[in-house]
Amino acid sequence: MHDRDNVAIVANDGGLPPGTVCPGALVLKDQVPQGHKVALVDLKSGDAVLRYGVPIGRALRDIDAGRWVHERLLEMPDARGLDGLPMASAKALAPPPLEGHSFQGYRNADGSVGTRNLLAITTTVQCVAGVVAHAVDRIRRELLPLYPYVDDVVGLEHGYGCGVAIDAPDAVIPIRTLRHISLNPNFGGELMVVSLGCEKLQPQRLLPPGTIAIGADAKEPQLDVVCLQDEAHVGFGSMIDSILRQARPHLERLNARRRETVPASELVVGVQCGGSDAFSGVTANPAVGFMSDLLVRAGATVMFSETTEVRDAVEQLTSRAATPEIAQAVVREMAWYDAYLQRGRVDRSANTTPGNKAGGLANIVEKAMGSIIKSGTAPIGAVLSPGEKLARGQRGLVYAATPASDFICGTLQLAAGMNLHVFTTGRGTPYGLAECPVLKVATRTDLARRWHDLMDVDAGRIASGEASIEEIGWALFHRLLAVASGERTWAERHRLHNALVLFNPAPVT
Ligand code: CA
Repeated sequence: MHDRDNVAIVANDGGLPPGTVCPGALVLKDQVPQGHKVALVDLKSGDAVLRYGVPIGRALRDIDAGRWVHERLLEMPDARGLDGLPMASAKALAPPPLEGHSFQGYRNADGSVGTRNLLAITTTVQCVAGVVAHAVDRIRRELLPLYPYVDDVVGLEHGYGCGVAIDAPDAVIPIRTLRHISLNPNFGGELMVVSLGCEKLQPQRLLPPGTIAIGADAKEPQLDVVCLQDEAHVGFGSMIDSILRQARPHLERLNARRRETVPASELVVGVQCGGSDAFSGVTANPAVGFMSDLLVRAGATVMFSETTEVRDAVEQLTSRAATPEIAQAVVREMAWYDAYLQRGRVDRSANTTPGNKAGGLANIVEKAMGSIIKSGTAPIGAVLSPGEKLARGQRGLVYAATPASDFICGTLQLAAGMNLHVFTTGRGTPYGLAECPVLKVATRTDLARRWHDLMDVDAGRIASGEASIEEIGWALFHRLLAVASGERTWAERHRLHNALVLFNPAPVT
């Protein structure tokens, strides 16, 4: 991966046996599984093991050239402190703008653009989830056939609202996350809320006046709420009737919308990886990084996230920040997360999973170096705290701070205003979101073949030499425009989607 590296990974399906002669006359001395590291030179105990040109650990004993370098032979370095970082020091490259690319999207009254035309039903509390799920099912079967231009109806179910310390300082995170998801561009500015009545998170607290006049019809600033405890409701059937009745005007307005040609700059793409392996940083993430650069050149917005997976690359982030203030915001988010983990008496090393390790990733440093490549090379133009929404008109590369947990990250990126999601995976996950299309990219051809009806793009062709990073990056860019225009991803075709999972660092009572 880098001229300085003293390890490399075995790309071959099934790994390689001892005795295999590798390019450069290196002879393997161990069976090395696919994706795992092999020493290129003799390493002494205490030597830095270099991958991506950076130390991913120190050798715990002498390791001969040709030996398997697994995680038990490595001591993980401490995280770099947050003092004395290079602030906005990188020379900003200004590649030529990319013009002439467009997609067919739904233009919203507030200027944002949707890639889908969905009726979303916001909920204030988990108590109403069963009733809303029932109503959503009936709307889908009985009403959607009458409104053919509406893609689907989505209940925004979550675990918050009751039994929470709603005035705790950190409660702002789950509350603004829910508020901002309700305003996601894929919902056309239509706001409809189902509340129980007695919950901590009252509808007016979730969506205070001033946040609701963004709708397609600003003449109706009244928040549309169905309250289940309302005395007018006699029995379950009448609650369902209310929800179906109140859904109709929203469906009418959504159904009147048509896709129109909009520039590629209206894309707001969230990039994420999950179920990573050693190929993530070799194939899929570099291709996504190339795609990110193309999107930024086209004037679009790209969000990358996953704090624990970029913490070990903090120098890269602060130096790539467009201004010292943005670099300072990166430090603020990293420091907040360090303290959050410390409160739970863990650190960033809690991130790697058994699957990551089986896939060849020795530790979080190695994982981070392969993860951050997704962000490409553009300067970082803004930083969002968890649950914050992009400022109107904010374009380019944005760091949206989130945990690395797939669903929590996806949920927070939806709140930030994502209208398209790109997700890379090496071990494989059937991940999807009901609120936004998710384009899944396999890091290995073996996975793309086995999960042929789950993986949208095979980036493993980079490892086998059949395609270049640039070719897969361009293919992703074009595929994104097609998906944004209505082409369905595998997850959409199977209706696979994960729950919204809120990040709630505040206490529950
Ligand atoms: Ca993730």
